[in-house]
Amino acid sequence: MKMKSLALLPLLATSPCVAQEDSPDFHKNLSPVIEKLDTDGEHLAVTYIKDDYKKLAETIDMIGKISQEQGSPFPIQDAEKLCKFIGIDQYVATGSSSKWVGEYALNRKFLATNGKPSGFSTIIGEAKPWSAPSFAPASADLVIETQINLTQLPLAQKQLALALGQEMAEQVTAKMQMPVSPKGLTVQQLSEKLNFRLSLAASLDNSKTWNPSEDVSLPTIDLVGRIDGATWLWDHYGMMVENDSKITEKDGITFYSAPKALPTPMGEVTPVIAVDKAKDQIWFALNMKYLAEAMGDGPKLSSTPHFQAALKSLPSSGNMLAYGSPDAIKSIVNLAEQAKASASSAEEKDIVATLVDAITEKLTASKNGYIFTLQTSDQGILFASKSPMLDKGGPSLPIMLAGVSTLFVGAKYYKDAADESACKVNTNAIHKATWVVQNIEGYEAGDKLTWEMISGDNSKPIPERPTCPAGGTYTLSPTFPKEGEPACRCSHPEHNLSKEETRNW
Ligand SMILES: [Zn+2]
Repeated sequence: MKMKSLALLPLLATSPCVAQEDSPDFHKNLSPVIEKLDTDGEHLAVTYIKDDYKKLAETIDMIGKISQEQGSPFPIQDAEKLCKFIGIDQYVATGSSSKWVGEYALNRKFLATNGKPSGFSTIIGEAKPWSAPSFAPASADLVIETQINLTQLPLAQKQLALALGQEMAEQVTAKMQMPVSPKGLTVQQLSEKLNFRLSLAASLDNSKTWNPSEDVSLPTIDLVGRIDGATWLWDHYGMMVENDSKITEKDGITFYSAPKALPTPMGEVTPVIAVDKAKDQIWFALNMKYLAEAMGDGPKLSSTPHFQAALKSLPSSGNMLAYGSPDAIKSIVNLAEQAKASASSAEEKDIVATLVDAITEKLTASKNGYIFTLQTSDQGILFASKSPMLDKGGPSLPIMLAGVSTLFVGAKYYKDAADESACKVNTNAIHKATWVVQNIEGYEAGDKLTWEMISGDNSKPIPERPTCPAGGTYTLSPTFPKEGEPACRCSHPEHNLSKEETRNW
């Protein structure tokens, strides 16, 4: 070996190997999930779930079969197709972590998928840099944004129809061809083009309150929203607004505003819509002033210290975002306290108080507000949030499986119990029939007994010989039974009456 490569040896020995000694050696299927989680917090859970959906599908199909045997209709014809429609056939592994970061519980859940989401999961579209915080005025207390992509929906609906059966498939196809715009756009055509981001921002004004009811006082709300990627819709629906609006234009943007202020319980509003075809954006707001703030260059929510603190260590782009500022949290707590004070009966007060105390205890700690994000990528779906509570795992696929299994066990138990009682009714009827024949025709206990003596035609006490609903075999006593002995026994031991029950026979 040359000196040069020998010199590299200590390096090789220290860097990658030491890291592996310090951290446990994860299975290769779990590593992509663990990489997206916090391993140094209070909670960490990771599970490999590839193909688990097949068990789920089998279970659902079995429940369907039992339901149908019992004569009750079951909506799902093919549960595996349904799973594919939802997109859970792509799930490979899932995990969650939770840790305290200052006042926050930082919660992450990651669902590793085999490639991009398919089926119904495509409805949440693709990740993009957050838009709402970048236009929301710095005073904004609530922002919500979501990407909505319906372009794959016609295809997904066909999969759903296949899972639900032929009849449903035909109904879905017919619905997709229905016109939904004045220009004759069909549901399918609309859906195939719809891929947009809806962003909303609202500011609460606690200095101007309004009263939805006598005991409740709420801050007034300024609201602005933006739809990115759907100005083409204006050609189909815009005329519905255009006719009743005051139209103005500025810098290539068309403003459609209500001709006069509208009275609302919150005070007067003058709704306005702005269409910016160059940027492919449709804006809407309750008032021009707040819209101008959102469209202008003034200070934005994204540059406030509280929002930056909330977003820190969460994704800077994604498919869904929700944020509530400390003021918004205060308003919610305040509203809850009002609800508590306005409860009419003592009983109502108790229930409301328990709920409100639970909410307020958790929420008041917030200095920077709470935030939730969802981000999809080729590797999977990441849910990340900063909330007042550690999330140590909610419903996940394994839990869903357990739930469905319980349902299935329940259904099986119900079926077993129903069979048992139906069988007991049968053997009871057979016993009564031998009793009738014995008394009318004057047989003694111990005399020969055959099926033909009690059933077979309309002249016999039970014209049609009953059978066990669970497939058991009935054995008739060869002789008329002694008092207290049953005349007929089922091959399923649990279907037979106890000695106690037949004592008076
Ligand atoms: Zn039976």
